[in-house]
Amino acid sequence: MFDVIIAGCGPTGAMLAAELRLHDVRVLVLEKETEPASFVRIVGLHIRSLELMAMRGLLDRILQHGRQRPPGGFFAAIPKPAPKGLDSAYAYLLGIPQPVIVRLLEEHAIELGAQVRRGCAVAGFEQDDEGVTVELADGEQLRSRYLVGCDGGRSTVRKLLGVGFPGEPSRTETLMGEMEVGVPQEEITAKVTEIRETHQPFCLRPFGEGVYSVVVPAAGVSDRAKPPTLEDFKQQLRTIAGTDFGVHSPRWLSRFGDATRLAERYRVGRVLLAGDAAHIHPPTGGQGLNLGVQDAFNLGWKLAAQIHGWAPETLLDTYEAERHPVAEDVLDNTRAQMELHSTEPGPQAVRRLLTELMDFDEVNRYLIEKITAIGIRYDFGEGPDLLGRRLHDIDVKQGNLYGLLHRGRGLLLDRTERLTVGGWSDRVDYLADPTAVLDVPCVLLRPDGHVAWIGDDQQDLDDHLSRWFGKPAN
Ligand SMILES: Cc1cc2nc3c(=O)[nH]c(=O)nc-3n(C[C@H](O)[C@H](O)[C@H](O)COP(=O)(O)OP(=O)(O)OC[C@H]3O[C@@H](n4cnc5c(N)ncnc54)[C@H](O)[C@@H]3O)c2cc1C
Repeated sequence: MFDVIIAGCGPTGAMLAAELRLHDVRVLVLEKETEPASFVRIVGLHIRSLELMAMRGLLDRILQHGRQRPPGGFFAAIPKPAPKGLDSAYAYLLGIPQPVIVRLLEEHAIELGAQVRRGCAVAGFEQDDEGVTVELADGEQLRSRYLVGCDGGRSTVRKLLGVGFPGEPSRTETLMGEMEVGVPQEEITAKVTEIRETHQPFCLRPFGEGVYSVVVPAAGVSDRAKPPTLEDFKQQLRTIAGTDFGVHSPRWLSRFGDATRLAERYRVGRVLLAGDAAHIHPPTGGQGLNLGVQDAFNLGWKLAAQIHGWAPETLLDTYEAERHPVAEDVLDNTRAQMELHSTEPGPQAVRRLLTELMDFDEVNRYLIEKITAIGIRYDFGEGPDLLGRRLHDIDVKQGNLYGLLHRGRGLLLDRTERLTVGGWSDRVDYLADPTAVLDVPCVLLRPDGHVAWIGDDQQDLDDHLSRWFGKPAN
């Protein structure tokens, strides 16, 4: 008997497993594939995800494997630098191969005590009042109290749950792969620059050791069952660039579409959905993995609280209430970005106009806070603007604030030195620091770093501790 079975060990499943293990939840991750993905897709970790990694003490490990770059230029690939003074101690983008980030998160989850079983596909399940019986493709049955589908865009869990996945099917498709080229780099750079003025996405980027990452629009929408061939790439390169750059010796070839869909619900009883299982959208702006990892970060402590029996009645449902609107917003901003990538004269004109508008600091800041997810404000009711937002990392007496969140517990940061977390001290840490650079007297942080309360009154604090952390221990 496990507390939680997670279907899928992608970035979302691995992150969720680690978050649950911080709270001693018995976790089993079932992964369909016997081996980690062999192809290398570079993904961008945006500011909020870097902050999450810092909050769990993972950032240094991750930075060693990625390349930092300025955070601007991501909205519809409009090349504008980020505005100055972004509200984060981690104001950059980290380019990192997806298999590496998955491996690091999986290792972290295993170090914390999660079990991961590869070559095990979830094929069915049944839930009752006490738990979920999960059936594997080979017929083996396992039992847990909760099941979370982190099994990607074609999620078996979502389909078996009968949750609708409305949205738009793919209208365009893009080929993506790694291969060698037969012409000099300068020739490629000149051609790519010329083509990118009208064709997004199009890219031939050196990847080291003579290998290039190639991204080119496909001829049409396929059934995606078969991977593309090198000839498909050559043909499309010739059609768009007038040359196939002598591409040869592919390492891997794949394709992706621009389907945009959002699950109608994130929870049915004891079964939940997170990551691509709950939402899919085209990769423009590089938000999918970030969104999934952030879902896991939102869900982990709430599910742990439910399992340990201290969760207030509605806590687990705040997962969907908070994360569904965030995904809705990401889907919308990718739809907008896709329009701006169109080669039609109307969208091109809008793109030129938006490019001009982004010279206004506020416009540029608004878009970058959206893409990097640092602009998210959950609806915790009326209160100061900071309520419901994440608190950026700040210096505190013992070092930095995020360094105090490694254990995934709540935190009261008290500048008045008068308050106490009393009977919640088994779930919430306390830090008295009158020197902390904050323009409010005290903040209560949830384990995901969002501000759950602001004030200086003990009774008001106790009410909010009850709201988020349940009944006091004594
Ligand atoms: C070209 C491209 C570029 C991208 N670039 C970025 C980027 O820069 N930044 C970004 O944030 N995102 C990017 N993304 C999106 C990102 O790759 C996905 O959003 C991310 O992989 C979703 O993670 P996940 O864990 O939710 O799902 P997945 O990564 O799909 O993982 C799901 C896992 O579940 C397993 N599984 C499936 N079915 C079962 C089953 N029945 N039982 C058990 N296991 C199962 C799968 O094998 C897989 O390991 C990009 C996507 C593409 C296509």
